[in-house]
Amino acid sequence: MEFDKIDVPDEGEPIEVIDEEADEFEVPETPIIPILHGDGIGTDVGPAAQQVLEAAANATGRDIAWMRVYAGETAREMYDENLPDDTVNAIEEFRVAIKGPLTTPVGAGFRSLNVALRQKLDFYANVRPTYHLDGVPSPVSEPEQMDMVTFRENTEDVYAGIEWEEGTDEVEQVREFVEDEMGFDETIHSGPVGIGVKPITEYGSKRLIRRAIDYALEHDRDSVTLVHKGNIMKFTEGQFRDWGYEVAREEYGDEVITEDTLWEERDGQQPDDAVVVNDRIADNMLQQVLTRTDEYDVLATMNLNGDYISDACGAQIGGLGIAPGANFGDARCLAEPVHGSAPKYAGQDKVNPTAMILSGVLMFDYMGWGDAAQLVKDAVEETISSKQVTYDLERQIEGGDKLATSEFAEAVVENIEQLA
Ligand code: NAP
Repeated sequence: MEFDKIDVPDEGEPIEVIDEEADEFEVPETPIIPILHGDGIGTDVGPAAQQVLEAAANATGRDIAWMRVYAGETAREMYDENLPDDTVNAIEEFRVAIKGPLTTPVGAGFRSLNVALRQKLDFYANVRPTYHLDGVPSPVSEPEQMDMVTFRENTEDVYAGIEWEEGTDEVEQVREFVEDEMGFDETIHSGPVGIGVKPITEYGSKRLIRRAIDYALEHDRDSVTLVHKGNIMKFTEGQFRDWGYEVAREEYGDEVITEDTLWEERDGQQPDDAVVVNDRIADNMLQQVLTRTDEYDVLATMNLNGDYISDACGAQIGGLGIAPGANFGDARCLAEPVHGSAPKYAGQDKVNPTAMILSGVLMFDYMGWGDAAQLVKDAVEETISSKQVTYDLERQIEGGDKLATSEFAEAVVENIEQLA
């Protein structure tokens, strides 16, 4: 493939797909991996994560041929556009990539580049694991109880971008249609209005929920919880729940059991190797993650609920500086931290790169580099538990040693070399 302004590294090889639908591929010893450092603090955490991940690859007998790609501010300078084809094509071609945060203006201005990337390349599942690392301070008394993985649908819901601005002809046309044709004549207040559409499809819901159940089965998890606000939004969020139960009942045989069947037929006794599928209303779920943390394992959510819940879970295990994530499609992975570009800290060599480093752990796991993934995790844990931390954790730890972003990355690399 030809790229306009970026070069494919000579020394690496592409990851080769064997079966796209079955998520099967072959990873060479030195894969080409596109990396996008991102906006704001992306310029700090991007290089730090790159250094740590490369050290772990080297320590396990491999290498990475990084291919720098650009979006947001850096792309505007280089290409005069926000999301150049070069970037989308490189991530599409090389299958596995990692990115830092990208800034999205609130209200007016361009639409989210993150959402555009996820939609363009059909990264339909945003996976956000939240687990506690030894030594990380937390606002709750037993943070080790938190061990959940949120599977957030990534392409639909109110995030789909189908919305109309107040004062436009389009929004007035939609208002007229809703009032006159659909009969909601006294529902929208008169005067200026903005209107958005919330599509939730069977296709989008079921493939996300399948992915969550498959993960629970593969990783020996006890339950998958469908999170929704279906009591109010019956035909979107309620339908998501119903499609989830359909998948659970029709596609997995004895491996998956629904919560009502568990009580009706088995007096609440869960078979050892089965996954239970249950559901919770989203507002209740936000308190359940705090009050009954250890009762939940894997959450399957629509786009907006997943965004909120995963941040709330992240707060319990050390905050956004720690929380990793990755987007998955068929035989495709784009790792990215949960946090944004925190512009006020940009370029200060201050923030915590752990979230982006641990996003790389998800990427390594997906590539079948489990040993390198474990090494990174252990080295991060070792660094933090010896109280060598960035500002966000140092302010909560007595006697903590406050490190810059780059110093923290170096400390993790030293631990990788010692633990390897
Ligand atoms: P944010 O950038 O995540 O920052 C919010 C706060 O979280 C920071 O002020 C800081 O808290 C803490 N934080 C975030 N990352 C941290 C890190 N690596 N280390 C330590 N602390 C960290 O959220 P935002 O201010 O709402 O959003 C800023 C921009 O990012 C917006 O343009 C938004 O659209 C974008 N965004 C992008 C993505 C993405 O690219 N996937 C995701 C979310 C938001 P303290 O100041 O309290 O220390």
